[in-house]
Amino acid sequence: MIYEKKDISGKVKMANRGHNHSGSNSLKVHIRTYGCQMNEHDSETMAGLLENSGYHLTDNPAEAGVIVLNTCYVREKVKHKIYSRLGELKKLKKEEPQLILGLCGCLVQKELEEILQRAPYLDFILGTSNFYQLPEVLGQILNHGVRDTRAKGSSRLTIVQVEENRVIPEGLPKLRKRRFSAFVSVMRGCNNFCSYCNVPYVRGREVSRPCKDILREVEELALKGYKEVTLLGQNVNSYGKGEKGRIDFADLLVLVNQVRNLRRIRFTTSHPKDLTDKLIEKMAKLDKVCEHLHLPVQSGSDKILSRMKRGYTREYYKNLVNRLRQAIPEIALTTDIIVGFPGEKEKDFQDTLELVETVGFDGAFTFCYSPLKGTEAAQLKERIPEETSGQRLRRLIELQQAILFRKNESLVGKEIEIMVEDISKKSSDELQGRTRTNKMVVFKGGKELIGDIISVEIVGSGCWALKGEVNSC
Ligand code: SAH
Ligand code: SF4
Repeated sequence: MIYEKKDISGKVKMANRGHNHSGSNSLKVHIRTYGCQMNEHDSETMAGLLENSGYHLTDNPAEAGVIVLNTCYVREKVKHKIYSRLGELKKLKKEEPQLILGLCGCLVQKELEEILQRAPYLDFILGTSNFYQLPEVLGQILNHGVRDTRAKGSSRLTIVQVEENRVIPEGLPKLRKRRFSAFVSVMRGCNNFCSYCNVPYVRGREVSRPCKDILREVEELALKGYKEVTLLGQNVNSYGKGEKGRIDFADLLVLVNQVRNLRRIRFTTSHPKDLTDKLIEKMAKLDKVCEHLHLPVQSGSDKILSRMKRGYTREYYKNLVNRLRQAIPEIALTTDIIVGFPGEKEKDFQDTLELVETVGFDGAFTFCYSPLKGTEAAQLKERIPEETSGQRLRRLIELQQAILFRKNESLVGKEIEIMVEDISKKSSDELQGRTRTNKMVVFKGGKELIGDIISVEIVGSGCWALKGEVNSC
């Protein structure tokens, strides 16, 4: 759907696209990203496109002439956070009417009418398939002057471009946040319709990107000095599925593994039901594919898994983990878990705790179930009281922390390869790097090591990070 609210004079025409380069050069844009890596990646694309059009990007909203919120809508809590930020920005815009405010991403796709009502002061709104039109839209706004919302009877204009499943051009410029590790989109959307999830509604159906385009992008990244890529999709395991002439994800990994100078390959997210033996075999064989897999289980109870429409049982999941560990003994597994799903009894929750203990995850993103309008689960009866969900969440986190602590302790004394990423976020006189199993290691070392792949000895452990030491001999 594309439509616009016209200003009262009806001057602005959507067909009249074009940049206003004269006004854009001094304008600073701040993009705030909510949610997953896919959103981060979309923000990097918006930033790249803007930079190419002469805008400057800034991390500081206070010095920005344009503020864009790239939104997520995976739980109600995130939505409230975004509306609360919008409330703050409304005040700012009252004081500084020239400020241009825009919203894009998943929330827009689901809640357009509500957003238009609650935030009429927004200058533009772009959907998940339209975010790349940001420079055009800014050009339009600048060409027609930013309205003064304080002026009585001022003309009102919000440019709205929200479409479903519009094909997004690939190969767009990107301003990547990290220097040695890059996200590469391999597919978009999801066909799974898990009963609790908004993603298929806000990101549309699965579309895989042609493999030659993916390879070209990875090759270019490797030439620029990137050492690691993370292949992104809501469900990468179904890459190419049902699309004529497409290879599958396992074969895509084989090709990416051949890219010269690339050292590490990661991918996310994997749906357990689509993880094939062929993929496990390739993961084990391909030297650049890292020994880490994010494999969301969501629940350890068969009853809840079935209500969630996940398409597997706890036994299937445990068996899959066994097959993965047989093929790749050192693999680290991380997961997502939802507690308090409608109908979850204490016994179902115990099944989740049992599965978490048996598998021994290296990390878990844990959530209280959030009913989302329009999803199947929102209709389900037997809602769990917030207090019960909260308690379960705390118990789950406690268990997972203990497991992680144990696992990390067992690494002390080992020599491990890390890719040095940056100065440590926690202490400026240390560096941080990541193991192939995706664990953070903090250690003392010179800045010249940033970007290198080195070996460190693990000398201490905690939940957030491991402590390392560079062996000087
Ligand atoms: N494609 C990924 C998940 C994307 S959403 C996958 O299939 O695993 C990221 C995570 O948010 C999900 O794995 C789930 O754990 C959580 N989530 C999604 N919808 C939720 C909801 N309604 N309430 C609570 N958590 C939710
Ligand atoms: Fe959502 Fe399920 Fe698709 Fe993941 S697989 S994005 S949880 S519908």
